[in-house]
Amino acid sequence: MKKITIAIDGFSSCGKSTMAKDLAREIGYIYIDSGAMYRAVTLYALEHGIFHGEDIDSARLREEMGNIDISFRLNPATGCPDTYLNGVNVEKRIRTMEVSAHVSPIAALDFVRQALVASQQAMGRDKGIVMDGRDIGTTVFPDAELKVFVTASPEIRAQRRYDELKAKGMPASLDEILDNVKQRDYIDQHRQTSPLRQAPDALLLDNSHLTIAQQQEWLKEQYLKVCQDHEPSTHSPA
Ligand code: C5P
Repeated sequence: MKKITIAIDGFSSCGKSTMAKDLAREIGYIYIDSGAMYRAVTLYALEHGIFHGEDIDSARLREEMGNIDISFRLNPATGCPDTYLNGVNVEKRIRTMEVSAHVSPIAALDFVRQALVASQQAMGRDKGIVMDGRDIGTTVFPDAELKVFVTASPEIRAQRRYDELKAKGMPASLDEILDNVKQRDYIDQHRQTSPLRQAPDALLLDNSHLTIAQQQEWLKEQYLKVCQDHEPSTHSPA
């Protein structure tokens, strides 16, 4: 089957990564969590004194972008790619509330977006990729054959994130997570560069009341439909 590009965008904590990851595994595609890349830059900034309270020393971050190397390596135990920052596995550290609370202002910086978008586009050059994020169908892969925009209510998303952190044994407060979800939605939708929005040709999926299995099935159906549409016809002319 011809390989395609699959872009999954949407609000924070709406289960994009779960659906993207599962589909990629099932169909043998590469999976890239673009949010992990913005989180890794944020972790770097937090650990290198680039934040002064809530203020970002953006001149320093701009200078240091060349020193930030982000890569993914498959974790055989989970079957999913882990995020590496300058060769160190930071998969767990990028998921903390501290990083979540600082990531959206970092992701609003033009030079950060330019660098990460260029590297995401390079990763998808050969297609056969499922990438999730906020601007994949609009900016990173505007020609993606399948685009999905996922949403769910902020309360449901906060509860899911809470359950996920608890399951990983990480500290979490539901109120704090709900505030963070709403704040990130606002910043992501209102930033100047590549704000979060549904691409005109993206399929909308509100998964508030869907189980993971149901949304998985829905996504697989969409994938198969698009593949059929892009498959060269096997009928020989009469
Ligand atoms: O997907 P996740 O919630 O981990 O992303 C963390 C943050 O990274 C988002 O809140 C958003 O600010 C930013 N992001 C982005 N563009 C992407 C992916 C994530 O701006 N493509």
